[in-house]
Amino acid sequence: MPRLYRDEGIVLRTAKLGEADRIITLLTQHHGKIRAVAKGVRRTKSRFGARLEPFMRVDMLLSQGRTFEGIRQVESLNVYADPISRDYESFTVASIIAETANDLVSTEHEPAYAQYRLLVGALHALANRRHRANAIGESYVMRALALAGWTPRLDACVVCGTQENLRYFSSRAGGVMCTLDHTPDSRPVSAVSLRQLRALLDGDWNELDRNELEPATMQAVEHWAQTILERPIRSMRLLD
Ligand SMILES: [Zn+2]
Repeated sequence: MPRLYRDEGIVLRTAKLGEADRIITLLTQHHGKIRAVAKGVRRTKSRFGARLEPFMRVDMLLSQGRTFEGIRQVESLNVYADPISRDYESFTVASIIAETANDLVSTEHEPAYAQYRLLVGALHALANRRHRANAIGESYVMRALALAGWTPRLDACVVCGTQENLRYFSSRAGGVMCTLDHTPDSRPVSAVSLRQLRALLDGDWNELDRNELEPATMQAVEHWAQTILERPIRSMRLLD
């Protein structure tokens, strides 16, 4: 008898398997990232199918498997997917969030509780239209990377440490640079952009709700994420 256990999780992605099954990738509250087979979900009368779409938050009874877990029962906890899917921008942002979570949590069955809380919070804010969708997405990316150990230095030049004339951002160097030290790979950032980057990292919604994100802010986040994850986040291109 395989070991059975219960956990809640967010569906990050789904892929077809054979004739009628799907492999569901989830970030769970207590077991980190898992991949589970949902049997028969592509048949029209499946009990599970509708509950295992991307961005759904579900409570599951799982059976431990060698490669994939089995899904025995599924209950919906929050129907984030509905309000998110009704709005194109929210859907695009949720796709970025799910893809980032999937890329960032690379090891399966390793608890990632803080990442899970951050993911739930971002999808909740998106589904409830708490803030601008793109700001929720960019803030999620900055904070998820920071939780994983990559926090860009935004308060002082990474070369000389000065807090003056910070006009450039270099993903490779890991933060901002002053006008004297900036390297060819760095990109110009305005004072507004720099303030927005700090607010995204801190989750400072008073600041973020005030103005639209500058294009340079979003490009810096995208570049930062790419540098760390070492490949473009597919969904991010859609926002530009
Ligand atoms: Zn400097």
